[in-house]
Amino acid sequence: MHASVLVLGGGVGGNVAATELRRLLPPAHAVTLVERSERFTLGASLLRIIVGEASPDDLTRSVSGLSRRGVEVVTGDVERIDPAARRVTVGARQLGADHLVIALGADLEPATVPGLAEAGHSFYSLEGAIALRDALARFDGGRNVVLTAAPAYKCPAAPYETAMLIDGSLRRRGIRDRSSVDLYAAEPAPMGVAGPAVSAAVRGLLGTKGISYHPEHQIARADAAAHRLHFANGASAPYDLLAFVAPHRAPRAVRESGLTGESGWVPVDRATLRTRFEHVWAIGDVTGIPLSMGKPLPKAATFATGEAEVVARAIAAEVTGGEPAGPYAALGECWVETGDGRAARGHGDFFGEPTPVVALEAPSADAHHAKAAWERAWLDRWA
Ligand SMILES: Cc1cc2nc3c(=O)[nH]c(=O)nc-3n(C[C@H](O)[C@H](O)[C@H](O)COP(=O)(O)OP(=O)(O)OC[C@H]3O[C@@H](n4cnc5c(N)ncnc54)[C@H](O)[C@@H]3O)c2cc1C
Repeated sequence: MHASVLVLGGGVGGNVAATELRRLLPPAHAVTLVERSERFTLGASLLRIIVGEASPDDLTRSVSGLSRRGVEVVTGDVERIDPAARRVTVGARQLGADHLVIALGADLEPATVPGLAEAGHSFYSLEGAIALRDALARFDGGRNVVLTAAPAYKCPAAPYETAMLIDGSLRRRGIRDRSSVDLYAAEPAPMGVAGPAVSAAVRGLLGTKGISYHPEHQIARADAAAHRLHFANGASAPYDLLAFVAPHRAPRAVRESGLTGESGWVPVDRATLRTRFEHVWAIGDVTGIPLSMGKPLPKAATFATGEAEVVARAIAAEVTGGEPAGPYAALGECWVETGDGRAARGHGDFFGEPTPVVALEAPSADAHHAKAAWERAWLDRWA
């Protein structure tokens, strides 16, 4: 019998899952991927776009390129998901499959904070990163603010990297002495899930660069006309250039499907990435995977990639009767850009008990180059 697999989302997890499934399954079995965007960009690359280190053309790939690998690509919006029946509505089309992989990521929701969308640049999207790049290039001194509008967001390093990248850019242009860089964070500490030593190291890096850090500042509203942020604790902050991380939410089709749990994300068995529905898996940012230390597994490409590989092997084993996949292990690696042509490599075991075991190495030029090489290698292999 011929099996069919439907992958929803052509971002990090979806690209890896579809590519691996196509490699592992004999051609008679169908692999279809649904994605609304025509271009794919690796989130990590947005940071290099912001400081003009690379152009979007170098760092984006056509999603339809997957069809060269034998994946059927459907361009469109997933509007409804019926996980019990494994049926999906995409525009006027109804798609069904024997196996369903949900890889729809996290939606950015700046509109949930009054005034925020108009006040600055949402740099977690390609358009927002390009707009911030252009605004930064025009900037001639003044107050820079980087803001996290909620305590949990994908890539917990990225806003800290962005503050340091902005600092580095201002120094290179000789305007740092007439500029300030402040980071207002909803969370109590940088990269908290990685533990107090990593948090302290990142705080130390901010300090050496003269970046003022204001943790536990939950944004309540932004006043774009007055260029001022107002926080729930009563504080307020002026700015000339604002870069923000918008609150995240599971995509509407996922929220309305009955797949989400109390956390607002899709609960899965952390070893297998299975949801509570038969033959339905979820991977990447759309999932909520609690850790014993009380915080969830961070949303990051390093995890979405590994989860997708485990799920592809599990589905291939079910279809072909081969060896079942080993459990997902949550070994993660990332690089924290420090804005001076260097980066600090972080790596660890995020399922470590009772807390994740994570190390952050000293910044080096080699690690900065290693990050760019990882981005290129990822795109060449998976996108
Ligand atoms: C600035 C920045 C820097 C980052 N740096 C790093 C890093 O250094 N290392 C790291 O590991 N991670 C990093 N990340 C995080 C990483 O990009 C994400 O965790 C990763 O992309 C998650 O993969 P995913 O497949 O779950 O979601 P995504 O890659 O976001 O893919 C989801 C896909 O679903 C599509 N979609 C959503 N809804 C629908 C719908 N209704 N219909 C059709 N399509 C839909 C979206 O268009 C998207 O393509 C960074 C992220 C950002 C923003």
